[in-house]
Amino acid sequence: MYSSALAATSGKTTAYGSRLFVYEVEGLSQNTDNDSLDYPIRRSGSVFITVPYERMNQEMRRITRMGGRIVSIKPLDAETPLKPTSTSNRSSKAEVAQPQQSNPTEKKRKPMTQAKTKVPVNIYKPKNPYIGKCVENYPLVAEGGSGIVQHLTFDISGGDLHYLEGQSIGIIPPGTDDNGKPHKLRLYSIASTRHGDKLDDKTVSLCVRQLEYQHPETNETVYGVCSTHLCNLEVGADVAITGPVGKEMLLPDDEDANIVMLATGTGIAPFRAFLWRMFFEKHEDYKFKGKSWLIFGVPYTANILYKDKLEEIQTNYPDNFELTYAISREQKNSEGGRMYIQHRVAEQAEKLWNMLQDPKTHLYMCGLKGMEAGIEEGLKPFAEKQGVEWSDFVKGLKKEHRWHVEVY
Ligand code: FAD
Repeated sequence: MYSSALAATSGKTTAYGSRLFVYEVEGLSQNTDNDSLDYPIRRSGSVFITVPYERMNQEMRRITRMGGRIVSIKPLDAETPLKPTSTSNRSSKAEVAQPQQSNPTEKKRKPMTQAKTKVPVNIYKPKNPYIGKCVENYPLVAEGGSGIVQHLTFDISGGDLHYLEGQSIGIIPPGTDDNGKPHKLRLYSIASTRHGDKLDDKTVSLCVRQLEYQHPETNETVYGVCSTHLCNLEVGADVAITGPVGKEMLLPDDEDANIVMLATGTGIAPFRAFLWRMFFEKHEDYKFKGKSWLIFGVPYTANILYKDKLEEIQTNYPDNFELTYAISREQKNSEGGRMYIQHRVAEQAEKLWNMLQDPKTHLYMCGLKGMEAGIEEGLKPFAEKQGVEWSDFVKGLKKEHRWHVEVY
């Protein structure tokens, strides 16, 4: 599932092995690093660089170092003639072709930041779910924390189920409901990257809290059907999976995007997928370079799901990742009350506000219903101090697909 055939240039001999590709590059600057350029750069417009397949990665890195942006990659064919550079005689060096302005039929190329990744949806429907196998099921709440939250991994190698970070899958619990009908599916945010926890594209993981509440009339303890089924699932047991679904919480392809993540409890699931993709995995076609910030609300320190890994990212990538906890039963807000996520948002309103002015910044919220109102509570007063109507501001972010909410 490492999808981009062009970018996946591992050096293996493939059908592309002997071929040449043309990079269209914008924004190259001659005074970055000490790279001596061996192709001419024009002040405006693009340059076209021809690259042999086996040098594609190296050339991509070099272009990035020089501040360039690849706006398209095409296999070299008869429609893309090249002019060799006059200054070059190194065999490994890229050649340059000027855009073919003399061709009146050639359409003006639209700049694009990155090829759009196709979003898979509903590969498996409830009538014909994929039957996966549980390969891992371990607790995430440390001693002293509240409730049961499990990390589950399912083997999906036998079918065609694939997904992107930020999507959800459906789980159909076995058995029937009170009306004798088969249980309906429940949605769960995917907690792994598209490559799965084992990096072999053969698994999907979830982060599931067992629903437990007191019945309002009888006061009996009630356990949720599907969450209990999952939290108690034995390794080796079958699990009926549908989906994937969801386009609301996708991670932008843009490596320079800034990602602000607000999570409560199991709302961490999609952000685990984001952060693992950004910081733990290595990809040829995605190297995160923006700023990411996770504000994570939990009741106790023991409820900080994936705590060690989050703190490892913070230690290893202090320039690219910021981690803020709101631990409601242990920390106090400025008024002496419990510290909820909206109090952290209010404390950091100016910084958040400034980040959101950047068109590359996306804000994500995932977790408990009501979070959106809490975030508004935290940011709205600051927006109003700037003379900005909060609802207009959010409308603008939604229109630009920079405001992403998934609450349940
Ligand atoms: P059910 O047996 O279906 O019981 C739920 C019902 O219990 C409710 O409809 C309500 O009628 C009743 N109920 C619940 N609480 C109370 C209460 N306090 N008082 C009275 N009645 C009550 N969950 C996760 O754990 N992790 C995730 O990553 C996750 N992602 C989700 C993503 C999406 C897009 C959505 C929509 C939901 C997500 N959920 C997630 C929630 C999940 O889908 C289920 O709703 C949850 O696990 C409960 O299902 P259940 O079958 O255990 O409960």
